[in-house]
Amino acid sequence: MTDFNPRDTADSKDKELDGIIRPQELGDFTGQREIVENLRVYIQAARLRGESLDHTLFHGPPGLGKTTLAHIIANEMGVNMKITSGPVLDKPGDLAGLLTSLEEGDVLFIDEIHRLSPEVEEYLYSAMEDYVIDIMIDKGPGARSVRINLSPFTLVGATTRKGLLTAPLRARFGIDCALEYYDASDLLNIVKRSAGILNIEISDDAAREIALRSRGTPRISNALLRRVRDFAQVMGNGKIDLKITKYALDKLHIDVRGLDAIDNRILDTIINKFKGGPVGANTIATAIGEDQGTFEEVYEPFLIKEGYILRTQRGRIATDKAYQHMGIVKGEKEETLF
Ligand code: ADP
Repeated sequence: MTDFNPRDTADSKDKELDGIIRPQELGDFTGQREIVENLRVYIQAARLRGESLDHTLFHGPPGLGKTTLAHIIANEMGVNMKITSGPVLDKPGDLAGLLTSLEEGDVLFIDEIHRLSPEVEEYLYSAMEDYVIDIMIDKGPGARSVRINLSPFTLVGATTRKGLLTAPLRARFGIDCALEYYDASDLLNIVKRSAGILNIEISDDAAREIALRSRGTPRISNALLRRVRDFAQVMGNGKIDLKITKYALDKLHIDVRGLDAIDNRILDTIINKFKGGPVGANTIATAIGEDQGTFEEVYEPFLIKEGYILRTQRGRIATDKAYQHMGIVKGEKEETLF
């Protein structure tokens, strides 16, 4: 059996199910309470004034609900949404085409907005600020710039790497929301809600087990629920109980604490290669084949939140919990090294 990597993008069947279980309104969206409450106010205020919502930036690790919130904004504002992503929008002409197709109040959602080319980003500035774009027509001596007025719109940007956004782009978002990992009780509600929508019978303890092993991430909860359902249908009577859940999660190589292979590699690097630290973020990043920024913004936050590593001025340190998790007695490794 190949290892199940819940961070991988879902297959097309899973994507179809995703559309069904994705919350459509703020009231369906579990967790991230402060963000939800604030958005509720901003949306209501914009509607009362008859204006488009301010440009909004969602940032945080993958699978926490950035795209979902963009859909919810469009839905609650009663407008249409056009979806694109930073790497896809590589020519200013593509951006101009999208922007001119927007109707008043519409949402333009740009995923991975940190990957916009500088040229496209430049065009976005005037579009965001003054709802105009100046496009160049022709090349050489006949080249001239034509100004196009746009309908007021809302740009919703999503990024896992806020650190890579340029200051001028960041400054143009009036609403800036940092999504956090979910706690187990919120994930439990998400698992139960998804199970209800998909008509899956699941016991409370089984739903809790999936929630606990989801790395704080709704996308992973939903993916695990679907895979456990497969096991329950083939090996049991279709109903998900704790026994089949534990069996399936073990078969899928999902760690008891929900840490994945990369998390374990990070802990292994700090503990076994660097005697528990302190070790620099750059060094750990190299060990897992990522750049320092991705390590700091995508991988490390969950391990810090769950108390596996500490960030100190001299570098990262593995905590007692990390040693326990790896089944290593502190000090043992140092002795074997010398
Ligand atoms: P991101 O854009 O941050 O990578 P998504 O918005 O695509 O994440 O969410 C991933 C999956 O998790 C979606 O299928 C969505 O239905 C589900 N999801 C995310 N946040 C929530 C939430 N707060 N409540 C219920 N389901 C959620």
